[in-house]
Amino acid sequence: MTTRIFGRVVTPFGVIPDGLVVIERDRISRVGHRTEKDVRNSDGVLDYRGSYIAPGFVDIHCHSGKTGRCYEDPHGFAEHHLDFGTTGILPTLDYNQSHEEILQSLSDILVAMENPETSIIGVHMEGPYINPKYGAITSPIRPVSEKEYREILDRAGSTIKLWTLAPELDGQEEFMRAASRYGIVFSVGHSEASPDTIFSAYRHGLKIGCHLTNASGSTPEVARFRGTREVGVHEAVLVHDDMYAEVIPDREGIHVRPLMLRLIVKAKGVEKVIIITDATGHADNGEGRDVRITDGNEHTPGGKKETLSGSLLTMNQAVRNMIAHTGVGIVDAARMASLNPATALGLDAEIGSIEPGKKANIVALTDKIDVEMVMVNGRVRR
Ligand SMILES: [Zn+2]
Repeated sequence: MTTRIFGRVVTPFGVIPDGLVVIERDRISRVGHRTEKDVRNSDGVLDYRGSYIAPGFVDIHCHSGKTGRCYEDPHGFAEHHLDFGTTGILPTLDYNQSHEEILQSLSDILVAMENPETSIIGVHMEGPYINPKYGAITSPIRPVSEKEYREILDRAGSTIKLWTLAPELDGQEEFMRAASRYGIVFSVGHSEASPDTIFSAYRHGLKIGCHLTNASGSTPEVARFRGTREVGVHEAVLVHDDMYAEVIPDREGIHVRPLMLRLIVKAKGVEKVIIITDATGHADNGEGRDVRITDGNEHTPGGKKETLSGSLLTMNQAVRNMIAHTGVGIVDAARMASLNPATALGLDAEIGSIEPGKKANIVALTDKIDVEMVMVNGRVRR
């Protein structure tokens, strides 16, 4: 069965205005210009002339959908985000889950992944080995425990694709050594590790800065001499040529100011920025505010203070915001939302771009980045 899609095809190298994507079963077999002959034969044609034909989004950091937290109903969670063009998703466990809850969540996600239609491509463990000074909810974050992580790795080692940690905690090097045997990539987040600690963790597979410019700090403090900027996690990730920066581009620029977003894109280049939603609530496609702000438990004498607690974003909304805030075009925005996350996790041979041989995970988008069609493994799902 051959399917052909007409549209403005977004490849990693540009847009083909009179583009054609040919799909055989679940794979892309050809990408190029369409001819008069292609148009005359309407068999198996999905005609989206005027729309962008872009790679399906890959969201590597997402906690919730319409059906609640990702682990409560992993299938419903992934289906919800499919509505917004996410054809590859890492349900992201919360750093405040107990050990038993983590094991149960992993089991439930593994069951959901048995469905051949699923868009779940693995799991992101955000914690629990993070620095309790940083994060919206700070309990029960705990010290690195070999007994605990061995059990987690036994349960779901190769399904876990990404693990966020604070590399400055005792025992992380041994942990990274154990986990990297499963091909797990690490991300530095909720941390105040020094640049040297981060650079040495790179050798164990630390490749990503978790939601850059959010929820991490500097050692010893952000400003010395009442105004001299200290360097820390964010600056180390910005400087390191091989590290990726996750960003949450919410509409009002609350997680990342538009100017900061431009600075990150400028420092990292378009090949090392990853758009995430970090959704922690029901994403409604961008009407109203798309961030969550809660009362946090601050570990300071001052007590409670407003804390950011993820977003209500969808991937198409995040892409739209990225374009608006930084001025990047659709080619670069699609790269940040699809190819870069796939490459960071080593999945780019299969997904992340519209290129022959890859899985046919494709979205049709309007100029306003509204989702018109979603295809997973060559099948139209929306
Ligand atoms: Zn998160």
